[in-house]
Amino acid sequence: MSSLKFSEVSRSTDCPARPERPVTEKIGARVAILGEGMTIRRVLPTRQRRMIGAFCFLDHAGPIEVNGNQGLRVAPHPHTGLQTFSWMIEGEILHRDSLGYEQIIRGGEVNLMTAGRGISHSEETPMGHSGRLQLAQLWIALPKNRAEMEPAFEHYPELPRLHRDGLRVMVLAGEFEGHQAPTRVYTPLIALDLRGEGETTLPLRRDFEHGALMLTGRGEVAGEPIEPGELLYLGMGRDSVDLRLHDDAELLLIGGEPFEEELILFWNFVGRTHEEVEAWVREWNDQGAKSRFGEVLGYDGPRTRSPELTARLRPR
Ligand code: MN
Repeated sequence: MSSLKFSEVSRSTDCPARPERPVTEKIGARVAILGEGMTIRRVLPTRQRRMIGAFCFLDHAGPIEVNGNQGLRVAPHPHTGLQTFSWMIEGEILHRDSLGYEQIIRGGEVNLMTAGRGISHSEETPMGHSGRLQLAQLWIALPKNRAEMEPAFEHYPELPRLHRDGLRVMVLAGEFEGHQAPTRVYTPLIALDLRGEGETTLPLRRDFEHGALMLTGRGEVAGEPIEPGELLYLGMGRDSVDLRLHDDAELLLIGGEPFEEELILFWNFVGRTHEEVEAWVREWNDQGAKSRFGEVLGYDGPRTRSPELTARLRPR
């Protein structure tokens, strides 16, 4: 979902430093419309903030009603150096990848694809599927010692679910109140999905930075009202955060140990040098199925070509 045209393009070099204390910093989404009117809100990376822990990308798609052949159609494209973490809130998406996995993901499930040294995949609404569609897609940067790992794909139909002060809490990644998510990640992080109507105080790790994205409905986080499409960055050094959700709202809370390595994010690639990213662009565009990214079988349509590099990329 990365090769979209957004209303505001962030190429800033003046991203503020990470505060090592609690803050409340509101970050508005950049918005794009995909295909037949699906709204995609991107809250990471933005001008204000590039990462939260190892999370380096966060898109929220829908909710939208899809009918028959409408819906999501993301043609085969490559990835390196990251994991794509797809949290299906409602609806269905068919994932296909160059390892040969073909997996429908449904509401309440996670698909986790580890790109490592290189993989390609497609994502689409299954043929003839109708109904509501809503998902969050996050990218998790791999640390240097895992960046070249062999690619992998995992599907998680069951995630820990608990109830707290009227809210349903799903533990998507990391550990919360003794509940460990099964999702395999390579840096300390957490992702929780909270839904319902209620008021609670969530314990947090002081050594993590955190952010909260309102998916649907209304609520307050750390005393700040936030609306769908707003990410509230919370900084570090918090033992807890107060939450209040109204009207069956849904909130995504993410956090992690600050990711200290400098990275290059270009198109669907996460790398560390201009040269390696340039080589991946060449390999994907020129070698196709013979490249390290392999071939996605079964997708009806051409793969997506990478944009060319137009300037020297610097890690930051
Ligand atoms: Mn992708």
